Formats: sequence, structure tokens, C-alpha cells
Amino acid sequence: MITDSHAHIYYDSFDSDRDAIVARAHASGVTRMIVVGTSVASSRQCFDIAQRVPGTFPTAGMHPHDASDSTPAARAEIERMCRSAECVAVGETGLDYFKNYSPKEAQLDNFRWHARLALALDKPLIVHCRDAHDDTLAVLREHGGLRGVMHCYTYGAAELPPYLELGFHISFSGVVTYPKNEHNRAAARAVPEERLLVETDCPFLAPHSRRGQRNEPALCRDVLQRIADERGTSLEALARATSANATRLFGLPE
Ligand SMILES: [Zn+2]
Ligand SMILES: [Zn+2]
Repeated sequence: MITDSHAHIYYDSFDSDRDAIVARAHASGVTRMIVVGTSVASSRQCFDIAQRVPGTFPTAGMHPHDASDSTPAARAEIERMCRSAECVAVGETGLDYFKNYSPKEAQLDNFRWHARLALALDKPLIVHCRDAHDDTLAVLREHGGLRGVMHCYTYGAAELPPYLELGFHISFSGVVTYPKNEHNRAAARAVPEERLLVETDCPFLAPHSRRGQRNEPALCRDVLQRIADERGTSLEALARATSANATRLFGLPE
């Protein structure tokens, strides 16, 4: 059993063949997916999918790109969804200073609000971090007792220790398969097995063999295989370990 810890299968690009995508995922051994919301509307879609598709688990949150839309009304709705028993995590949220689609101050305020909510609800926080290592760490450190995952970890081994010290899990995506990303593979070798997760972040970031095409949960197997090769272990052993980690972190059924 492989667990895709971060998938956006509600995207329009899956509308024509979503059932086939899920069937292909199952055929590849990817039988569980965390379906991650990035806005009020997409978080609602996560819950709709989780009602229909076995093995999918919803989250609710406001992406840093959409931090400008993080109004009191939007937050009330995200909080309502996060409070529900089905919701397995708060987010995704975080900071993205690469795109800067929302102003920094709005991103920081949105991120802090989610961190407080995750603490209040005792649910894991899904953190997106791009070109924002220092500020991300600062916000996480402000909120002692947080647990969660650095999703789509793209940094190297040098940036890992503070996240591990904070107790966070580290999730790797297709980025780990791209030829030039040796620094990211070094990180994938360095994360303790009990903190490791894998994801697709689909429809984005297809692994190298499909780079530039639409990504899908079945390809989580490619990510896992590459990390298993790097760590000198088997796909089966690492699938077991990462699925057990996801079960523990997100409180999934055994
Ligand atoms: Zn993200
Ligand atoms: Zn995402």
C-alpha cells in the first residue's frame, strides 16, 4: 500500500477521467490519497471527493498564493471544514516568495492563522514553502507543539535539521527524480524513516519519466521507487514505512 500524502485530484484537468485516474492509482498500489484544499472552493471539492472515493481523505486550507482572499468569512468556512471529523489536516498553507501572488504580509498572517487553528484542533499542518525557508521556520517556531509536514520538500540536507527538530515530517515529490536535483536526493537519504512521506502534488510536478505532462497519483510509485533506490531499501519496505507514517500523522484508519 502506497499513500500519496498530497494530491489535488479535484482539478479541472481530471474532470474527464477522474475515475480512471483513481483506478490507475489503485492498480499501482496507491490506495490512499490525502486530497488537499487550497481555497474555500477547492477545500469543499476535497470533501465531495472523499464522500465518493474510498481511500481519499480531505483537508481544508488557504494556499499562500490565495492569502489575499483569506478574509474573515473565508476563514470561518475553512475553520468549519477543519473542525469536521473527516478533515485529516489543516492546510495547505505556508509561504511562497517565489511567485509572491499575495503580498508577504498577507501570506504571513494567513500562515499564522492556520498554525493557530492546527494547534487549537490538534490536527497536523500541511506547509508549502518556496523561497521562504527563514520565515517559514520563524512562524513554526512561534507555535510550539505544532506537528505536520513540509510538503513537496525541495531543499537539500542542510536545511533539514530545524524541521526535524520541530518534529515535522518531510514529504518528497517528483522533484526528487529530476536529474539536476542531487541536493534534494541527499535530503531524501537523510530523513529518518519514521518522518518520511511521499506525494505527487498532482496535477503538478510529474516525475522525470513524464516531466511536463499531467501528474497523477499512480506516479507516486515512481517517487517512492527513486527514494527507495537512494536509500538502498525496497519499494515495498518504504511503502510500508511511509504509509504507517501517514496513518500516524493524519490519524487515518489502519
Ligand atoms: Zn504546495
Ligand atoms: Zn499542493
